[in-house]
Formats: sequence, structure tokens, C-alpha cells
Amino acid sequence: MKVIDLRSDTVTLPTPRMLKEMVSAPLGDDGRAKGSKGEDPTVVKLERMAAERFGKEDALFVPSGTMGNMVCLMTLAKRGESVVVAQNTHLYKSEKANFDPDFCGLIPVFVPQSRGVYCLDTLKKTLESKKIAAVCIENSYNFEGGSVISREKIRAILNICNGFNVPVHLDGARIFNAAAALSMEVKELTEGVTSLMFCVSKGLCAPIGSLILGSYEFIAGAREIRKEVGGQLRQVGILAAAGIVALEEMSERVSHDNIRARRLAEGIKDAGNISIDMDNVQTNIVKVDMTGDIDGKDFLKRLEAEKKVRGHFIDSRSIRLVTYHGITDEDIDEAIIRIKDFCAAI
Ligand SMILES: *Cc1c(COP(=O)(O)O)cnc(C)c1O
Repeated sequence: MKVIDLRSDTVTLPTPRMLKEMVSAPLGDDGRAKGSKGEDPTVVKLERMAAERFGKEDALFVPSGTMGNMVCLMTLAKRGESVVVAQNTHLYKSEKANFDPDFCGLIPVFVPQSRGVYCLDTLKKTLESKKIAAVCIENSYNFEGGSVISREKIRAILNICNGFNVPVHLDGARIFNAAAALSMEVKELTEGVTSLMFCVSKGLCAPIGSLILGSYEFIAGAREIRKEVGGQLRQVGILAAAGIVALEEMSERVSHDNIRARRLAEGIKDAGNISIDMDNVQTNIVKVDMTGDIDGKDFLKRLEAEKKVRGHFIDSRSIRLVTYHGITDEDIDEAIIRIKDFCAAI
């Protein structure tokens, strides 16, 4: 039986064209400044391309999404300053350094949210009553099953923050999946945010890398902080070459991953012993909740042992299944059969 690996879109491998471009990319020392950019022409090309695609002034390559978010937050906020964040975001839950008093030392201010959208009244009251250095949002919303924040909802959040002159940082690790779900360009979806991060290393299949975006001034500041945290690299055009292919060829096709995730969810939702909030299945992530006695960990362990389908653990009551380039329609058909069989026999 073939293994169907639905753990994460981070398991994607570089495409043949990526590998080809990586070998022949013109390179330089990205840590040496040539004006406001580094000396590696391939990195400069990727940064310019990303800035244009997102309608921002400038962009900066960073080794990981975690570092990208951290560099953005440290550019917007100083140690001891307060940042609005939701407890269930990647930024807070997985990237502990930002709010660790012994590390970046930002103070988290929690505002209640639903699927990544803050309660607008509470957000407004929070900004009125407290000095807030930045407000974070995440789109698509990883730990809520990849749900999407609509353009209207982002605009409502931005309106409030703009009223208090508070910058908004967007964790857009999977922003292309979100844009595809809403049938809009990333430029339109991210208009008005002060800074944003997106990954080329997930559904876009590049082996390494993320980009952060913002104004010329913001990126100049971020470049300094990237250096402090060791994210300034040398002939990194080798990686940027794959990032260019990711933007050119892989960023639109994630719509297929979204559609396949939806089909998977439809196919298994009535399998028994599980439930799926179908309203939440909007991008390439399917969050599956346990309704029977079985624990999330045991579910995954047995599903892999008995049916060769792999998923990702969220907590004892839920797991996650993710589609990506390399998971075909046939894989989805097969996964549906195996998961239904498995659930029926629990
Ligand atoms: C993956 C992810 C990140 C971090 O990216 P890494 O490259 O793994 O450090 C940040 N935010 C979200 C929502 C993610 O899914």
C-alpha cells in the first residue's frame, strides 16, 4: 500500500525547474550592501518580484517564516511593548520567542477572536485604553483549520487600527491559499497592512525561505534586525532562485490543493467517530475532530499503521490533514476510502 502523507505542505520538494535554476543562478554576497539591497542579483530579483506582486514598496528574504515574523515584530515593537495577538495563532502558540520575557520580551494582549477575526468592539476598546505597538493577524489561519479572513473583515480591522495609528502585521505563511480561496490577488487581499510575511517553503514548494514585505523604511529597519538575529546570508541566490520559480509557477496552482482538501473533507465527514466543521474547510487544511473515545494521537498512530495515511497531531481531540503539490486526485480518492474504512472499524 502506498503511503499517503497528509501531514503538511512543508514536505513538498523543490520542482525540477527549481533545482535547475538553483544551479545556474547568478550569485553574490547578499550581506554586502549595494545601495539599499544586497549584492546577490538573484535575491534582489526575488525581493523586487515579491514587492511588486504584493503591491508593497520593498521585500526582504528571510530563512524561515518564524524568523520573518520575529523580524517584523521587532521592527514594529520594542521589548516591553504590547502587541495584540490571538492565543491560537502560530505567532503566539508556536513561535514562543516573540513573547518570551527572556527573548524578544513583547507583551501579548489577547483580544477574543473567531476564525482569526478579532471582536471589533473589544479591539477598539483595547486600542483606546492601552498603548499598543502592533496588531497581528494570520491568514489563512493554521490552527483553526486553514480558515480565511475575508477582505472586508481585514478592512474592518485595518480601519480601527488606522484610527489609532497602530501598525498591522499579517502572518501570511499561506496567503496564496487564502487568496485562491477568495478568488483574489494577494495584492488586493493584503492591501493596507503595514508588514507581512509569506512562505515560499510550504505549498509553493521551494526548499527554504520566506519573504517579509513593507515600506522602504520598514524593510531598511528589518534588514538591521535580520542581521542581529543571524538571518543575513551570503550567496543566498541559490535559494532565491527556487523562490522565483515558486512565485512564477507555483503560487496560482495552490487553488487545486484547496479544492482537493474540500473534496477530502466531503468524502470523510460522515465516516463516523469524527466530525469536520465544513464551514472551516476553505483552503488546503482539513481539521478533523474526534467525536468517539479515540484520542488524536492514537487515531494518527493507528491510521498510519493500518492504512498508511499520515496526518498531523493538533491535540487530543483533533488532527489535521493537508493537501499540497504531489497529492493528486487519485491520492484523495484513495485516502477517502482508507479513512472511511478506518473510522468505521474504530
Ligand atoms: C509555518 C508557519 C509559520 C512559520 O514558518 P517556518 O518557515 O516554519 O518558520 C508561521 N506562521 C504560520 C501560520 C505558519 O503556518
